[in-house]
Amino acid sequence: MSRKLCLCVVDSLRTDMLLRTAEGGRAPNFATLLSRGELIPDCVSAFPSVTPVASAEIATGRRADGHWVPGMNWYHRAERRYIEYGSSFEATRTFGLFRALYDTVYNMNMAHLSSEVETVFERLADAGIRTACTPFLIYRGRTRHELGLEGILRRAASTARFDHAVWGPDELFYGELYASRRVPCKPTLARPGTRDEYSGCVGETLARDDLYDFVLFSLPDNDHHCHSHGPAASLDSIAHADANFGRLVEASGGIEQFLATHAVILMADHAQSDVERLYDITRVLAEDWLVQEPNTAHPELAELAVSPTGRAAWVYLLEDDHDRAASLASRVRTKLAQTPGTDLIAYLDSSRADGAPVVAVERAGAVLRFWRGGATRDLRGVEWTLDGDPGVLELVERDGCLLSERYPDPLSRIEAALRSPFAGDLLISCAPGWECADWGGQAHLGGGSHGSLDAADSLAPLLAVGLERFDPAARRQWTLGDVAGLIYRHFEIEQ
Ligand SMILES: [Zn+2]
Repeated sequence: MSRKLCLCVVDSLRTDMLLRTAEGGRAPNFATLLSRGELIPDCVSAFPSVTPVASAEIATGRRADGHWVPGMNWYHRAERRYIEYGSSFEATRTFGLFRALYDTVYNMNMAHLSSEVETVFERLADAGIRTACTPFLIYRGRTRHELGLEGILRRAASTARFDHAVWGPDELFYGELYASRRVPCKPTLARPGTRDEYSGCVGETLARDDLYDFVLFSLPDNDHHCHSHGPAASLDSIAHADANFGRLVEASGGIEQFLATHAVILMADHAQSDVERLYDITRVLAEDWLVQEPNTAHPELAELAVSPTGRAAWVYLLEDDHDRAASLASRVRTKLAQTPGTDLIAYLDSSRADGAPVVAVERAGAVLRFWRGGATRDLRGVEWTLDGDPGVLELVERDGCLLSERYPDPLSRIEAALRSPFAGDLLISCAPGWECADWGGQAHLGGGSHGSLDAADSLAPLLAVGLERFDPAARRQWTLGDVAGLIYRHFEIEQ
């Protein structure tokens, strides 16, 4: 039997900040991991580079075209309503606290995440490996868990008659909502920035009672801290994450004993960059078109739906007629291209002679179209044909390989986003320093955010310690989607 595996996900952890905190002596556990492990400093996140999309990619090994979760907020065409996964408290309140909670905790796993793909929890359980997780957005597994409410959420849920069991890992801990056993830990799901303690406390029980072979140990607070104060001010929140990771380590007998019995992957879902300016994309589009409002009684009247998702946004055309939709798309693109804050506009384009939709992306008046198959390979070995201006994505050829320093792994990431069944018609990636206001009117001016295709939001650490059959040189570019494969290789599960 292989050693146990701890997958520790620190939300919004940036490689430079991880190294600074470790070098400054404030993250002794992470420092030990760094000294014993192999660090890939530039693992590529999902696009949009936000937690729901990234978590689904980590947990399934697939991109959004496979796992289907397309953003922090998106428009459900069949239900004619927005899905909101908690962009901010104000956004949650706009859609209804309970509605957002239902979508985030229950629907994301049981309805939105594709049933065609398997999560690491499902795959490991089928191989007889005991799985556990602390609160992580994607938890779908093979064990049934009844709702076990505590605190203020109990009242909210019972008022709304929420009484759903879920399927999760053998040991599932999701704050006030689900807990596979009694733990002496105070759940604080409703208060962002106070959740690492809960993971640390649950981790103590999991380790002391030997309850897992694989644990996804999630530390979300660094995200909240970076949003509020900017990523450069995250020394405290990384130290805090290290201390709560340390509770799992101590309950395992200290760092040496922990590393003798565990392999570790320490990683982030995405990074963050500084935000100085607010992009009110909903208001901009509402100047010219009827944009669907949250909870409207008349969705049939709207011409567009808009889903801000951090430093990116989806625009959905609510027009069935093909020609009218094409004309509407062109006018919306023109308007957004002229609006400060827009960097890239990506969409599927059917104008090729054979009618097969290809991906198009525009920046500053230039257009690049691309599709799979052809003479050029990217860093991950995918072959492409480009048509138009490669400068749109700052693509260059180096050693026979197509790459972009500014937009990591851009072609596959844009393509996967647009081919998700829940994708909008247009995907906007914001210019540096800009963030879309969410449906609660919130952005993080003077703080940080993420979501764009840009390297600053997209590159994060992937640190492996004691992992079986791991070769950091096996790929020229690593992505979140590679992590599931690393887990399966560690436990010798066929892929
Ligand atoms: Zn965030």
